[in-house]
Amino acid sequence: PTVNPTDTAASQPETGERRVQEILQKQRRFFGSGHTLDIRFRKEQLRELQYAIRKYEQDLLDAMYTDFHKPEMEAYTTEIGFVELELKLALKKLYRWAKPQRVKETLLNFPARSYIYSDPYGVVLIIGPWNYPFQLLINPLIGAIAAGNCAVIKPSELTPNTSAVVSSLIREHFSEEYIAVVEGGADTSQRLLRQRFDYIFFTGSTQVGKMVMKAAAEHLTPVTLELGGKSPAIVAEDADVGLAARRIAWGKFMNAGQTCVAPDYLLVHEQVKEELIQLIGHYIENFYGADPSQSPDYARIVNDRHFNRLSDFLKDGLIRTGGTTDPSQRYIAPTLLDQVTWQHPIMQEEIFGPILPVISVSSTQEAIHMVQQHEKPLALYFFSSDSQKQEMVLRHGFFGGGCINDTISHLINPNLPFGGVGQSGMGSYHGESSFKLFSQQKSVVKRGTWLDLPLRYPPYGKRLPAL
Ligand code: NAD
Repeated sequence: PTVNPTDTAASQPETGERRVQEILQKQRRFFGSGHTLDIRFRKEQLRELQYAIRKYEQDLLDAMYTDFHKPEMEAYTTEIGFVELELKLALKKLYRWAKPQRVKETLLNFPARSYIYSDPYGVVLIIGPWNYPFQLLINPLIGAIAAGNCAVIKPSELTPNTSAVVSSLIREHFSEEYIAVVEGGADTSQRLLRQRFDYIFFTGSTQVGKMVMKAAAEHLTPVTLELGGKSPAIVAEDADVGLAARRIAWGKFMNAGQTCVAPDYLLVHEQVKEELIQLIGHYIENFYGADPSQSPDYARIVNDRHFNRLSDFLKDGLIRTGGTTDPSQRYIAPTLLDQVTWQHPIMQEEIFGPILPVISVSSTQEAIHMVQQHEKPLALYFFSSDSQKQEMVLRHGFFGGGCINDTISHLINPNLPFGGVGQSGMGSYHGESSFKLFSQQKSVVKRGTWLDLPLRYPPYGKRLPAL
């Protein structure tokens, strides 16, 4: 059965204020029992999560399809497969990550040994968005479990079917005193944010990110904010234009453009602009056929509000490819929009849909200058065969993460911390970075007792000049 995306939390005692407080109390008690400090316990829980995900795999794929037609292949690779990789890595490396790390000693402390211990924060809150409704909730959860925390997770209400499956999966395999799911929308989220958590991990829009940080400030709770923004793809005149077109089309139209690190807009050298536009059009047809609405590999827009917002963008500029819509399905064709300026509404906010505006530039410097005049993006992609230009872009462009001659793929390597900067977020995770993010790094000096130089103790007398 499908569920309507409404915030029913207020009418459900299930997620009311008292209920939320009850869950938190239980989790505090459980955390206090010390169970989660045991690395074996954490690994058992990660294995349990792995087992549960495998069991629920088809339900998750079906739910994401029902929610917004997420193609099964994309749902498998970018959600379930991605989570599986993180789980495997955490299971393999957890002992090493969690071991107290010995660091170099300073003579001033002689004799001593210095260590960094990784402590869990306690009870953490994870709030997820709808666009990768499974992965963006569960990947942070893996970090939280690995680091020994208890967790409350709140899926997005805009993907209610996925939210319901995640809720069943967690309820069936974990007790709520350890991991709890609280379903609902903005009201529920705010109810949670009024409570005192020990860490908050939020993925979503910059606007809501600010509210989260304000609420966290009330309790001095540390936060990670994984936000959005306008991520450029820059194509230089010396780029392999065919490859750039193919990789940009892939990164942009996957999940119908509803990807936080999708190329938001194109800055292309005027010499190769026409060729690039033609070739992106060619690859769109290659990927999704002459009529993408018939393609099993093309997603829909998540709700009417976003559909209407995106459809309005089609009024600006010149449509070079696509441009058709079907409100009954919330379908928007993969679209290339030419003759766009920074004054158009489409350039004033994150697009988060399958419309790619093209702006031409006369040099890479000009492109970088344009990027620098706006908020620091979550991602930046640069296409060029000139390694000096590549270095120039990497040194002068400030952004969360990105690729040279590709899109999106920096996310896939768990050895790379993933996160934004400025308005696109703070803090980063994936792989060991997730473990570190959910751990307090405790500095410890273990002093030897066989030597105690009197030098540091008063009375100091005239010791200082002697030093
Ligand atoms: P959103 O900010 O609307 O919602 C995210 C979460 O916050 C949801 O769980 C929602 O219920 C909750 N929420 C909504 N309004 C709230 C309020 N007023 N108070 C408290 N909580 C509230 O974001 P979204 O539409 O779900 O996701 C799209 C945005 O997320 C885009 O900006 C995208 O770039 C960004 N995003 C970033 C990443 C990343 O890793 N950096 C990943 C995916 C999406």
